[in-house]
Amino acid sequence: QDLARRLKEEKKNLFENTRVIVVGSGKGGVGKSTVAVNLAVALSRLGFEVGLLDADILGSSVPRLLGIVGEKPYALDEHTVLPIERFGLKIISMGNFVDEDTPLIWRGPLLTGVIDQFFNEVLWGDLDYLVLDLPPGTGDIPLTVMQRLPEAKFILVTTPQASASHVAGRIGHMAKKVNVEVIGIVENMSYFECPKCGERYNIFGEGETEKLAEALQTEILARIPIVVKIRELSDEGIPPALDDTEEGAIYVELAEKIVE
Ligand code: ADP
Repeated sequence: QDLARRLKEEKKNLFENTRVIVVGSGKGGVGKSTVAVNLAVALSRLGFEVGLLDADILGSSVPRLLGIVGEKPYALDEHTVLPIERFGLKIISMGNFVDEDTPLIWRGPLLTGVIDQFFNEVLWGDLDYLVLDLPPGTGDIPLTVMQRLPEAKFILVTTPQASASHVAGRIGHMAKKVNVEVIGIVENMSYFECPKCGERYNIFGEGETEKLAEALQTEILARIPIVVKIRELSDEGIPPALDDTEEGAIYVELAEKIVE
């Protein structure tokens, strides 16, 4: 009882001392969730208390990326939930409340209601950073999140492909419209470096991200290559950012830039 009361009091102050990093993208499949999860892990490795909120309610991939599929958050009472803890992170994802194969067929108001619950009814404790993984595109949830959290910093994930950067521009402009600062772009799947000959291949093209950064008056924070190990570890539920490897260093560098 005492613990519940104390925790609830802490809850009131949420986001007061917490820097919120919102990770979004124009479309799915560009690596947004991979960036969000590994950024959270990297921030934690830098010594910060980090929470990860999976706001991609209908397509949550955070449980898989962290190897916590099937785990259930602990509910203290009807309106108070403890986040799942893994790799030093506190995590909340819709994927941990429902069966993986159960389709959610909710409309906007229900979805934004869940986001509010994730903000207000989860005992996050004292966080230095909250990383928030948005659903792709400019739907109800991205708009709600940005309106609720005007102090948040926005990171845009895209691939170098024109079709990706075009739709990324839309959500970038939406962030700016509601006065959320776009702190930068992560160009994911930037290139592939042949492990045998070292030659670089720009599989998804090049040049588009620079144009996007200019249009949004922001910088390119990182260029992450296509690395088989990133995909393999992610599939196993092990974030590559955990390890002292070349791949891990990419995300730690990104985290360091954000902390600056
Ligand atoms: P999104 O959240 O944008 O839909 P995901 O983060 O789920 O995208 O990534 C889509 C797929 O691409 C996943 O299988 C993931 O492991 C893989 N992936 C993401 N980034 C990279 C990368 N830099 N190199 C190799 N595979 C990647």
